[in-house]
Amino acid sequence: MDLNFSGKQVLVRVDFNVPLDKETLKVTDDTRIRRALPTITHILEEGGAVVLMSHLGRPMKKLKEDGTINKEMFSLKNIVPRLTDLLGVEIQFCDETVGEKASSMAEKLKRGQLLLLENTRFNEGEKKGDEEFAKALASLGDIYVNDAFGTAHRAHASTTTVAQYFDEDHKCFGFLLANELKNASKVTNNPQRPFVAIVGGAKVSDKMLLLDRLIDQVDTLIVGGGMAYTFMKAQGGQIGNSLCEEDRLELANQLIEKAKKKGVNLLLPSDSVVADAFANDANFKIAPSGLIEEGWMGLDIGVYAQAEFANVIKQAKTILWNGPMGVFEMSSFANGTKLVAQAVADATKAGAFSLIGGGDSVAAVNQLGLAKQVSYVSTGGGAMLELLEGKELPGVKAMGGFEVEN
Ligand code: AMP
Repeated sequence: MDLNFSGKQVLVRVDFNVPLDKETLKVTDDTRIRRALPTITHILEEGGAVVLMSHLGRPMKKLKEDGTINKEMFSLKNIVPRLTDLLGVEIQFCDETVGEKASSMAEKLKRGQLLLLENTRFNEGEKKGDEEFAKALASLGDIYVNDAFGTAHRAHASTTTVAQYFDEDHKCFGFLLANELKNASKVTNNPQRPFVAIVGGAKVSDKMLLLDRLIDQVDTLIVGGGMAYTFMKAQGGQIGNSLCEEDRLELANQLIEKAKKKGVNLLLPSDSVVADAFANDANFKIAPSGLIEEGWMGLDIGVYAQAEFANVIKQAKTILWNGPMGVFEMSSFANGTKLVAQAVADATKAGAFSLIGGGDSVAAVNQLGLAKQVSYVSTGGGAMLELLEGKELPGVKAMGGFEVEN
């Protein structure tokens, strides 16, 4: 953000893909809007005019019965009231993304004024990364700022293609995107040791690459959540009715072997909270994770595993956490996730760097009120996952890459 924005028309790609209430169409979680504010405010205060663009939802996938786009439900107009409250400046809204009206409204903007364009995904060209569409977007700004970390892993027109129409001196990352990259690099580039990664969530298949990559980097890899049972079964355990991906059993064993070879401590939950139904009011008890009876399923890590995981986490100097330890949405099975979150907060207090890397673990730390007690909470699920898997994000590459200052 070291460009001079004074007197400039600045095209800013943000990630305002926020959840809306289905009935009232009001924003129900404004985290992503809040996190984009520093960039917008900085440009406005420096005397620039801001042309904001974002996508919202998947309008092309959820067409109306007559086959047309549901322009009401997916309109960025729905976020104007919340954005106005948060920014404290008047927002002009254009009901098209590109075209004569958008160009004319953008041209008339004065210093310190802000124009919000309609959902980029109302245009066929967005997801295709179409050059014509990207060029039309580019014509709306003298400078392009990409602050949309949550969509940086997509090679779309407004996140990637558009960047080619601006030279080095006329494009840059916004504060949020740069911060996300900087924080991710603290775990991917020479992390302080011990480095402990905690991976949970439902499926091994979603996080295969991440697990594989982490084994190359960490000292300890904690695997919890539903995915742990595929590992338990692969090792000959009985897992009853717990989640299992039969087609990943071999992969699970390969990962365990790789960890052994590399001297990585791969920890699985030795015990589980098992229930007789997938319901908060089901009967539940503690059982060894490899000895779960038929008719019972592991829905959380057990008390021994909780203590063991917490103990390892508290000794870490770098922590990465992606995915809950159990079905934390149900209070009966939220304890494991809670204790892990608390251990991450405690380790952070004791000097560790902790990154909460997207998705449901972010929801968990927010729900527990611990977001301020960890070092960094990412705004991007898929994008953070790809970064941690070692991929270069198209939205970052298009800007000429990112260099971390040490
Ligand atoms: P993910 O999106 O892959 O991080 O998975 C998050 C989801 O995994 C949450 O909705 C959790 O309820 C679910 N989950 C975590 N542990 C389990 C488990 N042991 N059995 C079933 N689902 C689980």
